[in-house]
Amino acid sequence: MAITEINAKSVLSKHKRIDSWFVARYSMNFYRGCMHNCAYCDGRADGYYVKGEFGKDITIKTNAIEILDKELNPEKKRKPLTPSFILLGGGVSDSYQPVEKKYEISRRALELILKYNYPVQILTKSTLVERDMDLLIEINKKSKVIVNFSFSSANDEISSYFEPLVPLPSERLETISKFKSNGISCGVFLMPVIPFITDSEVEIENTIKKVKQAGADFIIFSGMTLKEGTQKDYFFNILNKSYPWLIENYKKIYTGSEWGQASATYYQNLTTVFNKAISKYKLPQRIPANLFNKILYENDLITVMLEQIDYIQKSKGEPSPYGFAAYSINQLKEPVSNIKNNLQQLKGVGKFIEKIILEILETGTSKYYEKIINS
Ligand code: SF4
Repeated sequence: MAITEINAKSVLSKHKRIDSWFVARYSMNFYRGCMHNCAYCDGRADGYYVKGEFGKDITIKTNAIEILDKELNPEKKRKPLTPSFILLGGGVSDSYQPVEKKYEISRRALELILKYNYPVQILTKSTLVERDMDLLIEINKKSKVIVNFSFSSANDEISSYFEPLVPLPSERLETISKFKSNGISCGVFLMPVIPFITDSEVEIENTIKKVKQAGADFIIFSGMTLKEGTQKDYFFNILNKSYPWLIENYKKIYTGSEWGQASATYYQNLTTVFNKAISKYKLPQRIPANLFNKILYENDLITVMLEQIDYIQKSKGEPSPYGFAAYSINQLKEPVSNIKNNLQQLKGVGKFIEKIILEILETGTSKYYEKIINS
């Protein structure tokens, strides 16, 4: 393994609009490349330009804390950060990969988050995040914490083949239970579901059941992308060693789309399987609003909630005007409450959506939203 230490100019990424998957406007990661080396990782895709050999070469922003201190300190900013979660994770690395044991940059970032009082979400596959339980409990008392774990399934055997350097799913589930017993919200990102291996009704139901038993607050799923070039070649090589009979099936669903997506028919079938299982266990398939409605600026809150309804309705094959309405709210240059008597002038906002928006403004949620998110 080769480690390259660099000085970064900036650490905090600001998104143009609220990200309704993580309810975040900001994200940060201190590493580039990932020692976890999962077989399907899209960090390996040619477009990401991760230096060196993915899985073996890691770049570390060693001055990250010094820079982040300036980026988070409200006294050093002309404009305060827009209220939202800051996401620690994502990108093409895991903030709690083994190198974090030595460098402790994610831990020191959490110390700053605590000092400056921001809500934080973490996305990781590693149980190392338990090391920072003390800080996360303190942040959670002052603002809000959600710890998210990604899984391709809850099957230890399959995981140890495709994710050999990551703690087993059973260990990740135990960590979820520990966070939950300390009052910290947890989510599961079931992504990627691996075609023909972790996407069966049995595997998906088994995963959702275990996630529910561990006490997670929600589970969000997504399929697997395989971009042409290094990512696809690497994955096919691993697949071929233990599942050679599946290669032809993969070639039928991954036909070289720009973003590496599988065919639409495959995704529709996967969504149907997931929706059937999740309705049995009654777990929200988006981050529920009670975990963020006291944090967000009102336009962001309404945008996210309408986008969540839109996602769920469309995933059930139902038509939805909610995406248009969310877009209109997101484009507003003034608070929604300033125009609450003229909401129907906005594109996509009819009488029913107007009622939902007014209810959200008044109570932080809406009966219709609660019905959809918990369906
Ligand atoms: S943990 Fe995430 S970033 Fe790291 S190799 Fe696995 S999929 Fe990629």
